[in-house]
Amino acid sequence: MAERKTQIVIAGGGAGGLELARRLGARYGRRAHDIILIDRSRTHVWKPLLHEVAAGSLDANLDEVGYRSHCHRWGYRFFHGSLAGIDRETREVVLAPMVDEDGRELVGEHRIRYDWLVLAVGSVTNDFGTPGVRENCIFLDNREQADRFRNRLLNHCLRVSRKMSADPGADEYVEIVVVGGGATGVELSAELYNAAAGLRHYGLEVFDESRLKVTLVEAGPRILPALPEPLAAAARAELEALGVRVLERTRVVKAEPGAILTADGQRIPGDLMIWAAGVRGADYLRDIGGLETTPNAQLVVGPTLQTTRDARIFAMGDCAFFRPEGAERPVPPRAQAAHQMAETVFHNLVAAQEGRPLRPFVYRDKGSLVSLSRFSTVGSLMGNLVGGRMAVEGRLARLMYLSLYRMHLLAIHGWLKGLALIAVGHVNAVVRPKLKLH
Ligand SMILES: Cc1cc2nc3c(=O)[nH]c(=O)nc-3n(C[C@H](O)[C@H](O)[C@H](O)COP(=O)(O)OP(=O)(O)OC[C@H]3O[C@@H](n4cnc5c(N)ncnc54)[C@H](O)[C@@H]3O)c2cc1C
Repeated sequence: MAERKTQIVIAGGGAGGLELARRLGARYGRRAHDIILIDRSRTHVWKPLLHEVAAGSLDANLDEVGYRSHCHRWGYRFFHGSLAGIDRETREVVLAPMVDEDGRELVGEHRIRYDWLVLAVGSVTNDFGTPGVRENCIFLDNREQADRFRNRLLNHCLRVSRKMSADPGADEYVEIVVVGGGATGVELSAELYNAAAGLRHYGLEVFDESRLKVTLVEAGPRILPALPEPLAAAARAELEALGVRVLERTRVVKAEPGAILTADGQRIPGDLMIWAAGVRGADYLRDIGGLETTPNAQLVVGPTLQTTRDARIFAMGDCAFFRPEGAERPVPPRAQAAHQMAETVFHNLVAAQEGRPLRPFVYRDKGSLVSLSRFSTVGSLMGNLVGGRMAVEGRLARLMYLSLYRMHLLAIHGWLKGLALIAVGHVNAVVRPKLKLH
């Protein structure tokens, strides 16, 4: 009888999971180990690009990675499906039935055996239970939501453009409310002005950024709390120069069709309302397989990134909750954390196969960079090289911001293809339209 292969299953092929699948596939191929990646999408789009996809300044079709071709290249298997449960007794993951667009079942509930399991399913936007948000605001959790936002944005731009053509004096605007003054909300607000400025070159002659009214609403005392105060102030000044109305210390208490309501009694109208005010684990993760989860539905892991109740199950990236000993805060939900965790989980899975001790995860905060589209980039870098924290702005910051995505390309494609894709990206920037208009 053929010997049973050790099966390592990774649920979630995002910033962390896809890199891990590549590394494990490259290490073990299809020999004594079977590496299986499960994702509910057929393609991977790096999540930090979603605000550009939403604004239309990035065509995700050009940057997405098809899991099936990627797995063929790197020696792992791909299963298209949604993780719905874990049976720890039989060591199986349970995938939800797959249905088509009309709700017809294509594939019934499915189980996949694992010897080792890695949960890397990311996070969802946290609406903090605010009434009406789920029904009336768009989240930026995945490609579909970013595409939906872009389509609606284009429709509203067209509406305003047509009205302006018929009546040049008309007082018409596209009003957008962005809730959440963290990196996502700030980056999206700036990106919208970049996109609006470009539309006039693509047939909406009477539309430009002056027809856009963006309000950025932040509950805390200032936007970009992760950055030092002077950098956040510089970003705020840049946003206001573009035309963004920045409201700090303003808590949203309700969203209704066409407006959000704030605790201080304001009603802020929005043709489009986007909610980007924090993340949490998806509901199905709550107590999944009897594992320990936080009230925010994140999986609690120990120093080796194994879940606290099952050493055969690792969790990493946004869906994991890890507070290093003595630290005030847990490791933040960031792409750089997912990347670093993928390195540790890879090392620990290999060590476990070879009977070596596992190593603890050490998070190295490399700093934060926030892109205000082509207008500016601000951030602070951390590390021994710069001797603590260093503020960066302008071209250097922009270059470093762009290099984050390039590093992701190298991590998931390897050097040769990664460098080729970076070169193709440069060519596309010249030969392709600057906006995605469909
Ligand atoms: C607009 C935006 C801008 C950002 N900018 C930055 C930035 O500049 N720098 C930074 O460090 N971080 C940034 N982030 C945060 C960063 O994107 C996340 O921290 C990072 O992607 C987390 O990686 P992950 O692997 O944990 O999850 P993800 O990258 O979110 O991947 C999760 C994967 O799991 C899959 N999945 C989810 N549920 C299931 C399921 N039930 N079954 C199967 N598959 C499932 C998803 O399809 C996805 O492929 C940004 C986020 C957003 C939204």
